[in-house]
Amino acid sequence: MYLSAYKYLGHIIPSVFNQTQKLNFILGSNFNFVISMAGIYLHIPFCAKKCIYCDFHFSTKVKNNIDAMTKKMIEEIKHRKWELENEKINSIYFGGGTPSLLKKVHLTKFFEEFQAFNINEIKEITMEVNPDDISTQNLSLWKSVGINRLSIGIQSLDDMQLKWMNRSHNSKQNTNAIQLAKKAGFNNISIDLIYGIPKMSNKDWEEQLDEIKKWDIQHISAYCLTVENKTALMYSVNKGKTLMPDEETQSEQFKILSNKLSSFGFEHYEISNFSKPNYRAIHNSSYWDRKKYVGIGPSAHSFDGKTRRWNIANNKTYLDSHFYEKNWYEEENLNQKDQWNELVLTKLRTIDGINKMELLRFGEIDHAFKEKIDSFVKLKWINEKENSIILTLEGRLRADHIASELFK
Ligand code: SF4
Repeated sequence: MYLSAYKYLGHIIPSVFNQTQKLNFILGSNFNFVISMAGIYLHIPFCAKKCIYCDFHFSTKVKNNIDAMTKKMIEEIKHRKWELENEKINSIYFGGGTPSLLKKVHLTKFFEEFQAFNINEIKEITMEVNPDDISTQNLSLWKSVGINRLSIGIQSLDDMQLKWMNRSHNSKQNTNAIQLAKKAGFNNISIDLIYGIPKMSNKDWEEQLDEIKKWDIQHISAYCLTVENKTALMYSVNKGKTLMPDEETQSEQFKILSNKLSSFGFEHYEISNFSKPNYRAIHNSSYWDRKKYVGIGPSAHSFDGKTRRWNIANNKTYLDSHFYEKNWYEEENLNQKDQWNELVLTKLRTIDGINKMELLRFGEIDHAFKEKIDSFVKLKWINEKENSIILTLEGRLRADHIASELFK
């Protein structure tokens, strides 16, 4: 099964690009479309604890450093203000790390800085939060500064699983977090879930999803647990202490997820993402639509339509950087071939699929491509609808393989 890379183009795309650079080979450029809307991503590189599966960029040395980091990130925003001067800002996303560790003083400074941009038509301001940081006081703070969407790191409803993952919260805190957030008036709530966890049966997974139905939330991002380099999980698997579920089980749990959430009224609009009508994630959708975004903070990624850029994934080096020098980020200009590959990979993940008209801007679609599409249609991995190439549920299980077959 090819679920592992789904994560890499999910809600955490900027930070994951940075850490792994696994996708550099597929990224390319020369986008000629007019960019009218842009997003801002802020990477808050601190966490209270280290989850066993996580390879994102963060430090657990929060105290003393978060003030300096906020100051430095604001300096970066000022330094890069010109990049967004002619853009309408559509979305702002606080990701990490754990942005819910930010205090009032930090958030106030960030939001003061945003006033320098065209944010009159902003639609979505999301903050990733951990359930144990959700309190009446924090919710009221987040609301008061303008955050209108919460992405809550629930991950599991099972205390044993949460403990095994070294999460900083338990299932009771999960339920309380949702109740408090709703009571505080948040009506655009997303949660993150993980499946494919060792010893998690299909029945466990079904029961968790049934419980979540009762929460009546608007959006769910669900990722298959993957073993990333240099994580405690990898160490444990390599030592033979942890046995990961086989591909068949992971595939079954992906199908359970898709079928159940569809029956609950969620639209499976991207491989790892589900939304109630009109609640697709605006910021994350801009990654899949390859719109412009500016990523601020260590390890954050940016895209301007032609170039991808990633900031250094080291807090100390970032803090010591002089922004007028160029040694605190790397960048890559995208070429025609890479543009094609990126378009195929990202659009194939979405419910709308690849629009063949978009491919025509690269020239005539060649015979070999058409033959491959025909073969995937025969296998029932792809549906062709009018001008679009769309993955079936079976196809979604093999998205990376299918995309790689369609690459230039
Ligand atoms: S809280 Fe999130 S970013 Fe921090 S270690 Fe856990 S999964 Fe990683």
